[in-house]
Order: sequence, then structure tokens, then C-alpha cells
Amino acid sequence: MTVQDAQDRPVDDALVARTVDLAARNVDEGGKPFATLLVKDGEVVLEATNQVSQTGDMTAHAEITAIRRAAEQGITSLEGYEVYVTASPCPMCLGALYYAAPDRVVFAVTREEEGEEYEDGGRYMTLATFYDELSKPTGERNLPHVQGEADDATEPFRRWTAKNT
Ligand SMILES: [Zn+2]
Repeated sequence: MTVQDAQDRPVDDALVARTVDLAARNVDEGGKPFATLLVKDGEVVLEATNQVSQTGDMTAHAEITAIRRAAEQGITSLEGYEVYVTASPCPMCLGALYYAAPDRVVFAVTREEEGEEYEDGGRYMTLATFYDELSKPTGERNLPHVQGEADDATEPFRRWTAKNT
């Protein structure tokens, strides 16, 4: 499927509503207000919610949880899948989705709409600043991020390439 085809395909609003309902139910269960559906050929293959509060795993956002559940079912690429999410993904989940490479992401609310109702972030970022952090040079990011030295630090990469090409 081309990017344009994915962009033009009609959105299933019933699935958008299901994502919102699932997120609301997760709040009732003590969780954060985010859910994800993995959809193939219009059918929901699996659903997941943000599990950060329930598990203490800081990376257990709904999208990441869905990708992990998919892997447990033997789904190791999201080509051919659509990912329905409550809110336009945070940079962590967006990064994960670039790796997982679904055909497209369908979101119920923009991050601006989310930000009007919900405070997200930590000591280095907020919902409003997180995306801009990524475009800053390494030394200017709020999260200190510096390079150390090791002898032949690129050796693991050469080893992998030698073994796999
Ligand atoms: Zn996220």
C-alpha cells in the first residue's frame, strides 16, 4: 500500500469510538487514558491500554503494549496493519511505530486537544516541549546526553554486519 493510499483510505469511526471507550475504561481501572487497537483488513486483531500505572513499567504506553502483545502472537511487523490510538502518539511511541511500520496510524485526538485536558510529562519534558526536544542538538537537550570513549566502540556493529550480510 502506498502512503497516499493509506492516507486516503476511509477511517472506521466505530473503531475510533472503541479506542476512546477502551481508554475511558482503563481510567476506571486505575490506568491512564490511552488505548490502542491493532487492525488488519478492518478487523481488530488485538487491543491494548496504557499499563504504566498498573505495572510500574514507564514505557508501557498503549502503543508499546500493543506492539509487545503482537510480538507474543508472532506478529513481528505491522505491515498490512492499521494502528488506532486515543491520542496522536508521543515521541517514544511514534519512534516505536516507525520501527514497527504499520500502514498508518489513526488517532482520535491531536496532542493539542489532549494537552487542553491532560497534563503529561516529567522532569525533562512536557507534552508541549517533547517533540521539540528531538530536533535539538544532543548537547542542548534537557536530558543530559554525552558521549564516552571506548576502544573500538563500533566493533559490535561490524561484527553484526559481518555475521548477517
Ligand atoms: Zn506514548
